[in-house]
Amino acid sequence: MIPPIASRFVAGETPAAAFDHVRRANEDGVNVILNLLGEHYHERAPADGDADTYVEILRDIGATDLDACVSVKPSQLGIDVGDDVFRENLRRVVEAGDEHGVFVWCDMEDHETTDVTLDTFEDLAREFEGGVGLCVQANLRRTREDLDRLVDVPGKIRLVKGAYDEPESIAYTDKADVNEAYREDLEFLFKERDAGIAVGSHDPKMISLAAELSAEYDADYEVQMLMGVREDEQRRLAAEGVEVWQYAPYGGKWVSYFYRRVRERKENLLFALRAVAGV
Ligand code: FAD
Repeated sequence: MIPPIASRFVAGETPAAAFDHVRRANEDGVNVILNLLGEHYHERAPADGDADTYVEILRDIGATDLDACVSVKPSQLGIDVGDDVFRENLRRVVEAGDEHGVFVWCDMEDHETTDVTLDTFEDLAREFEGGVGLCVQANLRRTREDLDRLVDVPGKIRLVKGAYDEPESIAYTDKADVNEAYREDLEFLFKERDAGIAVGSHDPKMISLAAELSAEYDADYEVQMLMGVREDEQRRLAAEGVEVWQYAPYGGKWVSYFYRRVRERKENLLFALRAVAGV
């Protein structure tokens, strides 16, 4: 069982628990992106197994009226086993999403996986005419060029600051530089696309900027935040009419995900402890 301290960030161990979480979030106007916890598989079997599970989840979401979709990690679908394994598995998942009318996101991992992830996304987004979205990381120096390439690709783009420690030669490592790159990339997206823009950030400055850019360029967007982070703000934005999607991981492999959230920001542990202590 997931202890209360971690359940702030994880939507349960089973699909049933995750669906209960989706139902509660939907009641507050917040849509949910489900992520089955699992990454960095070095053998084919677990990668194929997680792809099978996503196919089932997509079928189950499609059979409900829940406002939910999924997000997968390349290394969960086998990118460390082989590019072809990843391509085949992502294709299978996107095909199931297409069949059941449920959107599929692909997360972005470290810079060694960027090219294959981009190529695979572009192929699938064109083949399935949308129905699939890709995360891009503003901290990578290459991202502006990648956005040039992605601008006419159907589907959605989630802009994040980037969660991986990358070398200086590849990425901006100073926080101010990353924020500047994020602002520029966001403006580029709003200028060039009129839909399919996802702001993957908890940063109030970036969320305000997105609202301004949306008004200026008359383009639709959504805000995406993690489960357990600024949930009051998620509900407030949803009540204001902003499309909000909460990224909610679930599954048995919750321990390392929980510690990552705590390492990233020690306030997360304090929030979780307060929630447990009821203060
Ligand atoms: P930061 O730059 O960390 O913080 C800026 C401000 O935001 C803070 O000053 C504070 O005001 C507010 N804030 C931030 N965190 C908190 C908090 N815990 N509590 C209260 N206020 C807070 N990264 C990837 O590399 N690949 C991915 O596929 C990916 N997918 C993501 C999907 C979603 C939906 C989200 C939200 C993030 C994803 N990330 C991904 C992580 C992302 O790259 C950042 O590491 C992470 O979001 C932190 O950056 P930030 O913009 O939220 O805010």
